[in-house]
Amino acid sequence: MTILASADGGSGPAGSHRAENDTSWLDAGEIQSALDAHIREDATLIREVLAKSRELEGLTAGEVAALLQVQDPELTEELYAAARWVKEAIYGKRIVLFAPLYISNFCGNACSYCAFSKDNRTLKRRALTIEEIRRETEVLIDQGHKRILMVAGESYPRGFDYVIEALEAIYSVRRGNGEIRRINVNLAPLGVDEFRRLHAVGIGTYQLFQETYQRDVYAAVHLSGKKRDMDWRLSGPDRAMQAGIDDIGLGALLGLGDWRFDVLALMKHAEHLESTYGAGCHTISVPRIERAHGSDFSNAPLNPVSDEDFKRLVAILRLAVPYTGIIMSTRENAEMRRETLALGVSQISAGSRTNPGGYAAQLDQVEDDFDESQFSLGDHRPLDTVVRELAALDYTPSFCTACYRNGRTGEDFMHWAKTADIKQKCGPNSVGTFMEYLLDYAKPETVSAGEQAIERDLAEMGTEERRVSDVILDRIRSGKRDVFC
Ligand code: SAM
Ligand code: SF4
Repeated sequence: MTILASADGGSGPAGSHRAENDTSWLDAGEIQSALDAHIREDATLIREVLAKSRELEGLTAGEVAALLQVQDPELTEELYAAARWVKEAIYGKRIVLFAPLYISNFCGNACSYCAFSKDNRTLKRRALTIEEIRRETEVLIDQGHKRILMVAGESYPRGFDYVIEALEAIYSVRRGNGEIRRINVNLAPLGVDEFRRLHAVGIGTYQLFQETYQRDVYAAVHLSGKKRDMDWRLSGPDRAMQAGIDDIGLGALLGLGDWRFDVLALMKHAEHLESTYGAGCHTISVPRIERAHGSDFSNAPLNPVSDEDFKRLVAILRLAVPYTGIIMSTRENAEMRRETLALGVSQISAGSRTNPGGYAAQLDQVEDDFDESQFSLGDHRPLDTVVRELAALDYTPSFCTACYRNGRTGEDFMHWAKTADIKQKCGPNSVGTFMEYLLDYAKPETVSAGEQAIERDLAEMGTEERRVSDVILDRIRSGKRDVFC
């Protein structure tokens, strides 16, 4: 595919987007053949692929297809061991934390699995005012968050200006020592001109889940609205890249299509972005369908993914794309989150609310309003509890946003990530941002667990990493904030 400078920009699925809409890289026959070629669980091949995965260079689609057949308990344990090894080698103990911020639940699409579907007449609709968005941001900052994922249904009051104003409002809020330093967004696919505006306002990752890469299933669950046009969605990350946004988050909604097909298609999607734009995807999200208000479908998904398959899927992704962040949301319960952290998840949300205005309402002790939420949460615990548990489990909670702010994004980020150099940055930045959290927001019992975790991290660092960490920690202890390298 050629990259068009795209004079047309455009903001809708119809019309002059043929080159941008070129989605021929998604070849269902090729994906199915790769799966069919590995229909049996081939222990010898699987062990070869697991050995190769420890070279940290990622896997081919054929190798991933072989791993997708793992069922045998012994091989499953070997798969998990390899995933734990790769996770530890690249990410160490760091887990990045963020919170979603839902600004509006109005939507022009009818997705069978989502509470925000325009056909859901029982949902209480709400689009936050800019003042309410600022209030939500204040609550999140006061909890200690530095990263937000802004989410909305596909229908914006006042058009796309609303989205831009919301982003500017979030970035402008200051509270004591705190502010939001990176906003990732999860919005329906846009035209190039709108993506350029998102880029100009300084978003971090543009996240877009394809939901499923199987065309028949996609058509069956997207009943009306712009989202019915599967190719418009599939080519959304292309347009974002063309507009200069080079951190792209892909994902599949698990429970729709055959998860094995969708994992291979995700690989193909990342490969397509890498070969066309020089950078694959920055993150992959693995949402499983949760019960959603007004959606019968969400109570009985077409192809539910079992807990065991879900863990395999996370482990396989970790081996297939070792440098790509894997994101898990609060859809999963605390136990599943614990297990998958060890297998490869590198970012989690915490203390989440999926109803617009949910954070301020919680503070005002208003009952959580499931009638406005997108889906029910599996993990209801506040940020501080999650942070304390992570520290007790030997992880380092990180609020780091340094790469994005130092311009280490897209291809540049991948270059850093693939060299050992990134470790010199991640270690100091994660202990630094964690220390900021401990000093400014943590409960006393979290402070002691956190300080132990930081001491443990420092003890495991190499000389230069340790030196930089000590400088950063000293400056933070003496009252400086937002110190990073
Ligand atoms: N409206 C935009 C879109 O659909 O791309 C962005 C916001 S939408 C709320 C974000 C994601 O929520 C969707 O891409 C979908 O994968 C996920 N989602 C929808 N319903 C869900 C459910 N019942 N359980 C879990 N995730 C769900
Ligand atoms: Fe709207 Fe997105 Fe929900 Fe579909 S998934 S109904 S597009 S908010």
